[in-house]
Amino acid sequence: MKKLTLGIDVGGTNIKLGLVNNLGKVVGRTSVSTRPYRHSKNQLLGALLAAVRSLLSEQGLKKENIQGIGIGLPGLVDPVHGVVNFLPNISGWKNVPLKKILETRLGIKTFLENDVNLITLGEWKYGAGRGIKDLVCITLGTGVGGGLIINNQLYRGAGFVAGEIGHMPLNETGPLCGCGGYGCLERYVGNRYVLQKAAKIFHRKNIDFIDIRRFSRQGNPRATLFWREMATHIGNGLAGVVNLLNPARIIIGGGVSNNHKYLFPRIRQVIKQRALKIPASTVKIVRTQLGDDAGIIGAQVLVNHEI
Ligand SMILES: [Zn+2]
Repeated sequence: MKKLTLGIDVGGTNIKLGLVNNLGKVVGRTSVSTRPYRHSKNQLLGALLAAVRSLLSEQGLKKENIQGIGIGLPGLVDPVHGVVNFLPNISGWKNVPLKKILETRLGIKTFLENDVNLITLGEWKYGAGRGIKDLVCITLGTGVGGGLIINNQLYRGAGFVAGEIGHMPLNETGPLCGCGGYGCLERYVGNRYVLQKAAKIFHRKNIDFIDIRRFSRQGNPRATLFWREMATHIGNGLAGVVNLLNPARIIIGGGVSNNHKYLFPRIRQVIKQRALKIPASTVKIVRTQLGDDAGIIGAQVLVNHEI
């Protein structure tokens, strides 16, 4: 049997596990809810180990059939030493030597990475970034994350934190961000803030993007303005990225990319207006192609590379 990779994508709501073959196809999967274990590191670890074992036995696989485990985590990760430094949305995860723990308990080589970096690797190798040497992937959701491929390599930075586009300041004196900075991009386009703003604009408490898309289809001018402002903020942030890195492609993913019809034309326009002419003319703005599977597919790219 050809060797498979086990990709694990840890999120604030659930953990997705997928068996990925060497063509980047997911051939088996399961998931576990994170919620019951949010406050106990050991219980979450126990649930994760149980899920791995049950997925393997369900598929009739032994540890020898798995070439490695790639695991993406929503926070600060040291991929070289295999340590989870800090997960902002899952408590109790500080300086956890997860690579060593999983390798000891499962007997399978394990590699850690930041979750958006895994998505970036997946899209680069098998998705919207195939064949592209220099690209940026951004995810728009509650948080705004980014990953960088520079000269066909994942760029991690000196402390493995490169690509934190969400905390790039757009405004020196803007609103306070969760990171302690002011006027960060995430503070303007993160889901929570954007929907708070929408609640005021449309006088509706629990508004979501489905409602706003409906208003747009009904021709509501406030909806048109809402998308325009959001896309302008995203475009301004990306104009800086385009000038700094001159990427050939920017791949946009995350829940908000479902609103691409309303956002992308204006994002492209702002980049054209605000970025330097040459990098603005060489960049293409596209949607992710792998959807929710990007992280577990990216795990295969990581593990293949490391092994
Ligand atoms: Zn910030």
